[in-house]
Amino acid sequence: MKVLKFGGTSVGSAQRIKEVAKLVTARGCNIIVLSAMSGTTNTLVEISDYLYKKNIDGAKETVNALEAKYMRTIDELYSTPEAKEEATREIKACFNYIRSFTKDIFTLFEEKEILAQGELMSTALMNIYLKEQGVNSVLLPALEYMRTDKNAEPDSQYIRQKLTAQFDKHQGADLYITQGYICRNAYGEIDNLQRGGSDYTASLIGAAINADEIEIWTDIDGMHNNDPRFVEGTQPVHQLHFEEAAELAYFGAKILHPTCILPAKLNNIPVRLLNTMQPDAPGTLIHNQQSAHIIKAVAAKDNITAIKIKSGRMLLAYGFLRKVFEIFETYQTPIDMIATSEVGVSVT
Ligand code: ASP
Ligand code: MG
Repeated sequence: MKVLKFGGTSVGSAQRIKEVAKLVTARGCNIIVLSAMSGTTNTLVEISDYLYKKNIDGAKETVNALEAKYMRTIDELYSTPEAKEEATREIKACFNYIRSFTKDIFTLFEEKEILAQGELMSTALMNIYLKEQGVNSVLLPALEYMRTDKNAEPDSQYIRQKLTAQFDKHQGADLYITQGYICRNAYGEIDNLQRGGSDYTASLIGAAINADEIEIWTDIDGMHNNDPRFVEGTQPVHQLHFEEAAELAYFGAKILHPTCILPAKLNNIPVRLLNTMQPDAPGTLIHNQQSAHIIKAVAAKDNITAIKIKSGRMLLAYGFLRKVFEIFETYQTPIDMIATSEVGVSVT
């Protein structure tokens, strides 16, 4: 079984949802992870901001506009009145839930519940569409198996156990659909894996079920050897080692969330980056095999802080760097690069 993850643009309209449905049904029994439709999570953040600021009118207006967009999608997506009705009921329930927060206090907890609606809606729309097409698809609720521990790290054992139980309960499906990004925390509250976290979901599921492969479907044909927004004529890189991909993801390649690499690497599950608009393009395969020592790509990152520390006391001293790094550790600040000399150290 493979894990296939589709990002927000890939499910961003009725037409796109139909294309993804066709693509996944042709690929057999896999587990499909979906992001929210493009723009939805940002709009939910916007609604939450209004609610924090007690701007109830602003919140209501934005909720209504987003709901109208979903109603148009429903109209375009389904052909039977039954499917339309079911989808309308599900989506309306989500929006009424969001509206319920316009009455009371609003904190981080409520915000996370609102943010979770995007993925709940995209998966509901897809599941109902697949059923309308005669596909026996089963929706696996992420909130029942995806969980973080007290350190806000994924609880791998719990995830594996609960996910296996879900599969046991729903044997014989044509395919499985689930939500990216959303989870519960150690206290059972609704939480998420941070913005862009659907890739992480895919990778955690891949690790939990020991998948054959994790496919990340986006709207670009793989990781490029340079940033196509700034450099002309870039080419996709066909193969990367996990570590090369991690560096590229961290230092600027927007196509893959950097957190996604580790679970796949630790469990030796290849990750393939593919393009929904060009499904036959080879994309990028990320795996554990090192190829010849060549430079495969260049990445750039903005908003980097460089700190230069110079001290006469560093001369012939020992333990100086430890003291410096302990400060970064205390403030949980990761360091990307470092250069040192006998009297100075620069870190970014
Ligand atoms: N919907 C979430 C976001 O926009 C997660 C994702 O797209 O991966 O951040
Ligand atoms: Mg996304």
